[in-house]
Amino acid sequence: MRLSLKNLANDLRFNVRDSLAYFIFYVTQGCNMECAHCFNHLRNHESNKDLTVEEIDLFSRNLGRIKYMTMAGGEPMLRSRLETIAEIFYRNNKLDILNVSTNGWLTDRVVSFVESTLNSCPGLTLAIAVSVDGGRETHDSIRRRKGSFDRAVKTLKELKSVQERVDPNRLAIFAHGTYNALNAHEFLDTARFFSEEIQVPYSVALIRGDGLPDDSLSKVDIDHFYSVFKHIIPLVRKGLAKNYPFRRAGVAMADLVGDVIYNSVKHSKMTVPCKAGKKCFVMTADGDVILCELLNIVLGNIRDHDYDPMKLLRSDLAVSEMRAIKENECHCTWECFQLVNVWSSPRMLPRIIGKAASYAIQDW
Ligand code: SF4
Ligand code: SF4
Repeated sequence: MRLSLKNLANDLRFNVRDSLAYFIFYVTQGCNMECAHCFNHLRNHESNKDLTVEEIDLFSRNLGRIKYMTMAGGEPMLRSRLETIAEIFYRNNKLDILNVSTNGWLTDRVVSFVESTLNSCPGLTLAIAVSVDGGRETHDSIRRRKGSFDRAVKTLKELKSVQERVDPNRLAIFAHGTYNALNAHEFLDTARFFSEEIQVPYSVALIRGDGLPDDSLSKVDIDHFYSVFKHIIPLVRKGLAKNYPFRRAGVAMADLVGDVIYNSVKHSKMTVPCKAGKKCFVMTADGDVILCELLNIVLGNIRDHDYDPMKLLRSDLAVSEMRAIKENECHCTWECFQLVNVWSSPRMLPRIIGKAASYAIQDW
């Protein structure tokens, strides 16, 4: 992705229009862990239903431009031909940024995926988020797999050495933690450890979903979360490569998402209208098109609809659900869609610019 004023203006126009910009694709439901906080655990271990690469190519041709995409799972690194899948979206959908979320267990696989994808997709920026939910003992206990903290750290270190060999515009590395009742007390220390010792930014999600393997993890104090979140933002700012695309604006938006989450839980209030279905959607590994995961609005399966997600996203069901979301001023803590809501909302633009400008002055 090349940085220029023209690209920035095009981006702004694209962001505020009601055209799709982001989607989350569960590339496989296979996983090598059984984490206590996994909102996806009921779907996991059904990888025999995953879409084939040919089916993925078919549906991506019907999607149009997608700026930003997350590959999740399951564990994406277990998906065969993951590099080919990344290249499909890069070629067919002119993807700018691909975010891949991994538990970091399979270090060599992560590194080979990154090296291969950077080679085959020359204009793509890759962002790899390795999940780490606390110090060694806490993380291994949440992940229910001994050694998972050490493996995640090893993966981050290997990725750092790849980063030194490539254009820093093209590879961002994050440690990513899910704040929950078990790690709340050490969350900020964990963020400091990754920022200062491993030298990668530590991004935050708030635990979500019902019927988790261990529901007690959801009992969190939102004021504490908010305070931790606000302490972590400067660490993220410090940790991102200086020339990472739109670094300050990205951090400003992440910061504002913290306010959106807090308003939703603390005041039961919508901050920005949700663009679920208009600008963003989710697809499961077996082809279900989901307008909103939290509300469990499943529009149908692409295998029954000519491999065309747009038909489902423009269906009467989708239109009426989107209307209800707007009329009910739906709000939630799901940072992925809330980030889209923040960057695609004209009313947030002055706040994003204001924050980004204040970071620039502080950095000066
Ligand atoms: S690694 Fe991810 S998908 Fe797998 S069980 Fe843990 S949270 Fe769920
Ligand atoms: S606000 Fe949250 S729960 Fe409501 S539709 Fe958007 S993503 Fe779903």
